[in-house]
Amino acid sequence: MFILSEDTERTRGDNAQSSNISAGKAVSESVRTTLGPRGMDKMLVSDSGDVVITNDGATILDEMDIEHPAAQMLVEVAETQEEEVGDGTTTASILAGELLSQAEDLLEDDVHPTTIVEGYHAAAELAQEAIEDQVIATDLDDEHLLKVAESSMTGKGTGDVAAGDLAETVVEAISFVRGDDGVDRDSITIHTQVGSSSSATELVEGVIVDEEPLSPEMPRSVEDASIAVIEEDLEIKESNIDAEYQVSNVDQLNAAIEAETEQLREYAEAIADAGADVAFVDGDIDDRVATHLAEHGILAFEGVDSDDVTSIIAATGASRVASVKALEADDFGEAEQISVRKYGDDEQVFIEGGAAANAVTVFARGGTEHVVDELERGLRDALDVVTAALDAGGVVPGAGATEVGMANYIREEAAGVEGRKQLAVDAYADAVDLIPRTLAENTGMDPIDALVDLRAESEAGNTAGIISEGQTGIVADPTEYGVLDPAAVKREAVDSATEAATMIVRIDDVIASS
Ligand code: ADP
Ligand code: MG
Repeated sequence: MFILSEDTERTRGDNAQSSNISAGKAVSESVRTTLGPRGMDKMLVSDSGDVVITNDGATILDEMDIEHPAAQMLVEVAETQEEEVGDGTTTASILAGELLSQAEDLLEDDVHPTTIVEGYHAAAELAQEAIEDQVIATDLDDEHLLKVAESSMTGKGTGDVAAGDLAETVVEAISFVRGDDGVDRDSITIHTQVGSSSSATELVEGVIVDEEPLSPEMPRSVEDASIAVIEEDLEIKESNIDAEYQVSNVDQLNAAIEAETEQLREYAEAIADAGADVAFVDGDIDDRVATHLAEHGILAFEGVDSDDVTSIIAATGASRVASVKALEADDFGEAEQISVRKYGDDEQVFIEGGAAANAVTVFARGGTEHVVDELERGLRDALDVVTAALDAGGVVPGAGATEVGMANYIREEAAGVEGRKQLAVDAYADAVDLIPRTLAENTGMDPIDALVDLRAESEAGNTAGIISEGQTGIVADPTEYGVLDPAAVKREAVDSATEAATMIVRIDDVIASS
């Protein structure tokens, strides 16, 4: 009996499993060479010819046009990782792929999928214990934070600026928005502007909006500014497009023009009388209104986009008013300084020292669009990892050391696991090994030798990872080289990789309608 339509494609049993597993492995394989400080970049070219150059796992997988449903699940691992902790996307995808690869071997040895799933879950719990054991510090000082920020940016394309200098900017930004309730990460924005070397990247205590002053006659800088945010078109409102003036003589015409001029003047007067120095208007402003505003020394912007309005309000405490007639001093936002700066053809408005919130902006610079885009991704990761380190349980050694410790711990504990499940727990440990192994490979070391050394160090109770030095790498203690990662990044990688891998292993029937 046929219960499915003729167009349905169905793959079952071993075929379904091996196709899914291969797809998952292929995805993780595709990001392997980008892992770590010596990881390479990828250039992704879209259908329309747009080019993205990046080292960021989540971005690579997002830009790749991945269709296979199981492969898609690995892309989701990277996405979840990015959303939850902001870094470790490559690590999580590599781990998920290798868990699948190990599962393939287990399936070939006739270990039942359910046994694999149970074993993986047991191993993931052990992995979490091992991470907890390796937490170095939870009460973090700036020194720790600088190291975490720098570790997350090392190996990323950051133009001509050293990861260490950017790390300082990142930690300074965090210090502005850090309170008793943790880090208010949303109050930090990254604003990009091409046209200068990346070393010009700076921290601005406030917000930056991409708007242009209405007229060159207006001031370009205002101190202790009172800021009005207005939702209105400041022009002659034509209630009816077909409206015609019935004028029979010149006097009547003059009177009509006079009335218009008066109305336009009133707009400007209302803003000036209320006492505003700066006006952000989301509607259009007639040139004559602009002239009057300029005469009053008011800096005004028209057609301000709604995201900019939101950040101006958040930073300065302004309330949006629907009409200039209703404008009162109470509605104003305040800022210590508003200045318009010119960058090539672009103008940017800096709103600093806003009265309402500790909004800060990392003003990221770079010679080209590609450079600033990758710099922005690096900065975002760094801001996220510092936040995760502060808010979600401290830091662990980086450079693969935590993974080496994890794998060893899982192997030790596996001895106590009964039956075939033990094989799956062991396999999990082998999968975790792929992280330090890949770091070693990408550094140009012999991966087998490196792994043997790492394991020996870890068994002797030492912390050891892969530190790049000169043209190659060495096995050394990452904490002595300032390589630290947030514990939360490792925890999330274990969780999301395990979840995706076990989900894929459980599938034995793929029914695709087309
Ligand atoms: P992910 O997307 O997983 O964050 P990355 O390419 O950012 O991938 O690489 C992260 C790995 O690189 C982590 O294991 C981290 O500890 C390691 N790492 C970062 N900086 C260094 C360094 N200076 N030396 C060695 N390893 C480093
Ligand atoms: Mg990273």
